[in-house]
Amino acid sequence: MSTPTLRLYNTLTRAKEDFRPIDPANVRMYVCGPTVYDFAHIGNARPVIVFDVLYRLLRHLYGNDCVTYVRNITDVDDKINARAARDFPGLPLNDAIRQVTEKTANQFFSDAKALGCLEPDVQPRATENIAQMIAIINQLLAKGHAYVASGNEGREVLFAVGSMKDYGQLSKRNLEDQQAGARISVEAHKRNPGDFVLWKESAPDEPGWAGAFVEGGASVSIHGRPGWHIECSAMSNRYLGETFDIHGGGLDLIFPHHENEIAQSRCAFGHDVMANVWMHNGFLQVEGEKMSKSLGNFVTINELLETEKFGGRKWPGEVLRLAMLKTHYRQPIDWTVKSLEEAEKTLEDWFAGLKDVVSSAPSESVIAALSDDINFSMAIAELHRLSRSGELPTLKASLELLGFDKHLYASGLKKELSANYDAAVVASLVDARIAARKAKNWAESDRIRDELVAMGIQLMDGKDPVTGELVTTWEVKR
Ligand code: AMP
Ligand code: ZN
Repeated sequence: MSTPTLRLYNTLTRAKEDFRPIDPANVRMYVCGPTVYDFAHIGNARPVIVFDVLYRLLRHLYGNDCVTYVRNITDVDDKINARAARDFPGLPLNDAIRQVTEKTANQFFSDAKALGCLEPDVQPRATENIAQMIAIINQLLAKGHAYVASGNEGREVLFAVGSMKDYGQLSKRNLEDQQAGARISVEAHKRNPGDFVLWKESAPDEPGWAGAFVEGGASVSIHGRPGWHIECSAMSNRYLGETFDIHGGGLDLIFPHHENEIAQSRCAFGHDVMANVWMHNGFLQVEGEKMSKSLGNFVTINELLETEKFGGRKWPGEVLRLAMLKTHYRQPIDWTVKSLEEAEKTLEDWFAGLKDVVSSAPSESVIAALSDDINFSMAIAELHRLSRSGELPTLKASLELLGFDKHLYASGLKKELSANYDAAVVASLVDARIAARKAKNWAESDRIRDELVAMGIQLMDGKDPVTGELVTTWEVKR
């Protein structure tokens, strides 16, 4: 069978299209990542898992070294500031913000790993790309696409949506619709109610950077912080170039976030497109209802993995992954205990006989199914067929390709340690625990020990007889 053509649904054209990378030697994908102020919920896990599958497919089709996947960390945002002030009232705001963003970003990385996701090639942070944002804002000012105005909370640099002839192509909203839309408040300092913030002035106690801008030949300095949309234009440009292949995220991001990213990047760099293909995952709800804190059905990835909050038990990351992928990524998904139980049963069946099987090449039919706009149900049907017909090396290779490769299932879903992968994870956790103990952060060291115990790892603490340094050795409890 020859390699199938990859076809992807493109929100920009509302059609499934053949995928043709700009440069097959470097296929470039950007996905909007989390704003790191709180634990990621299971809805946030959907783009993480869906685009991981696409990343794995692209690597399979074009070669592991021929794909660049960038997923950002938004670590400057007013929600973060509010959380930092609430949780660390005794600390200076910038230190408190660092505490919140570090802790949350690390939790997100460990959640993504538990869900079987590969690390993106680059995970840039907004706060490390401020100079790039300022440079793009200056390009927009120079070309008449932005202006400085005085808003309610200080000066702002705003994007002038009226300066872009075809603003609104992604969301198919034109400026008249937006003016009629009740959600955009008419603010007197804006030329158009749809104009959005590129940069806004910070109060002395808020996080801020020196913003040096030039408008109409005059220098303007605004100690401030970036708007949300400019972050992604800057980070995608830095790591993927002025135009790239795929841009992804949840469908709530189509407007205004992605529309405004497109406006900024196209107007600053002068291209007809920012990314060729725009992909959006559908929304997740829980047991038939919108997930919300007030309904009490809000569930974080971490709670599913490590507590008994959902369905009265913990769920392995692989079960969450399969449950997420069973529904086509563009459809809404209903997250239910029943669907997790079914996913678990399926994994048990598939992995029952795989322990000592050496994997071969993944099934061509699985690749073909994924190549049809990630038709995961078709891939699952093929996995069932491979399992029934005893084509176990192909089954195992296909499961590995799909990211079900971290833990091997023995009977009763007991996680077995696969030596090559997990030894590295254990070693890094053991190191992190030693660091926590040295810092006298006992809560964190206990948390890591519990995590290791849950993985079946027994720790033995001791002291080096010569140096007196703390040493920890470990073994797998069988
Ligand atoms: P946020 O941190 O809210 O910007 O969200 C991070 C990512 O998760 C974005 O791609 C969102 O579109 C996505 N997302 C948020 N909530 C849900 C949900 N309930 N279902 C699916 N995706 C979601
Ligand atoms: Zn973004």
